[in-house]
Amino acid sequence: MKIVYILSAFTLVGSCAETKYSTKIENIKHSIHLTDSTTVINYANTITSEELSTHLYTYSSNDFLGRATGEKGQKKAVQFLKSYYQNEHIVSPINDTIYFQTIPKSFLPDGTNATENVLAYIKGTEIPNEVLIISAHLDHEGVKDGEIYNGADDDGSGTVALMEMAQAFKKAKNEGHGPKRSILFLHVTAEEIGLQGSLYYTEHPVFKLENTIANLNIDMIGRIDKAHTEEPNYVYLIGADRLSKELHYISEKVNNTYFNINLDYKYNAENDSNRFYYRSDHYNFAKHNIPVIFYFNGVHEDYHKPSDTPDKIDYELLEKRTKLIFATAWQLVNQENRLTVDNTNE
Ligand SMILES: [Zn+2]
Repeated sequence: MKIVYILSAFTLVGSCAETKYSTKIENIKHSIHLTDSTTVINYANTITSEELSTHLYTYSSNDFLGRATGEKGQKKAVQFLKSYYQNEHIVSPINDTIYFQTIPKSFLPDGTNATENVLAYIKGTEIPNEVLIISAHLDHEGVKDGEIYNGADDDGSGTVALMEMAQAFKKAKNEGHGPKRSILFLHVTAEEIGLQGSLYYTEHPVFKLENTIANLNIDMIGRIDKAHTEEPNYVYLIGADRLSKELHYISEKVNNTYFNINLDYKYNAENDSNRFYYRSDHYNFAKHNIPVIFYFNGVHEDYHKPSDTPDKIDYELLEKRTKLIFATAWQLVNQENRLTVDNTNE
């Protein structure tokens, strides 16, 4: 009798705790209020497939020689990004003018030359010391056996998405709708040789990591994988609920309110054998308990091949996915409360 009594007491405690947890989650879900609904869409609409296409045809052209880390094509790529931000009057976070964070040869795998992250920045109007980082890697595979690996999707698509989002946030700021919190547009180098650019940034952060509210990382968002040829209105999201349930529900609500893209969580499963959560630059932030979302279209037949070219990109879809990320970022930098972290990596 006694044993049964104890067991049922435990059961009771267990179920109470469970109810409490699910109530807490429900409360988070219902507490999210989207800010500036009309304004965010006005500026999201300045992100266009035409401009994304123009930038991407340049960025993944043969002139950039596949952007291998430390090589001539990558140097050309960082100059291209710097010139773009200068022309758009978007400053760097280092004295306004230093767009490159140089990673010395000694930090990199043997045989790799020094290389650069590119940083552009929009200062928050109310809480400038809190910063959202939106990232994409600028490098790719270079030239092998005389063939140029253009890397239009990987990660030209993420690169041009950052360029367009930065322009939209800058326009908003110029017109009196600047973000409350700061935004760092971080083009990381040396991803293809082991996430070195994001690792270097997190070891030498320009803004304290404890003031970094979240990282939205983009790596390949211009194509459609085999699983979605019939219904291409999708994007994979990875990591959104791992450290902050609020981030997951913000992301869902922004999408359901404005875009209705099918958010596919297949690769977010903890036991997913692809382990994508650990495989792109966001992980270097997540391991410091900074909430992340990784946006990804999945692999396709041209993945890491010379045939990953700009003519194969779906520009309408790239535009839509970029707008989703833009509006999610808008919410994160403009909502009243700083995004809450409710979990940690063990
Ligand atoms: Zn990539």
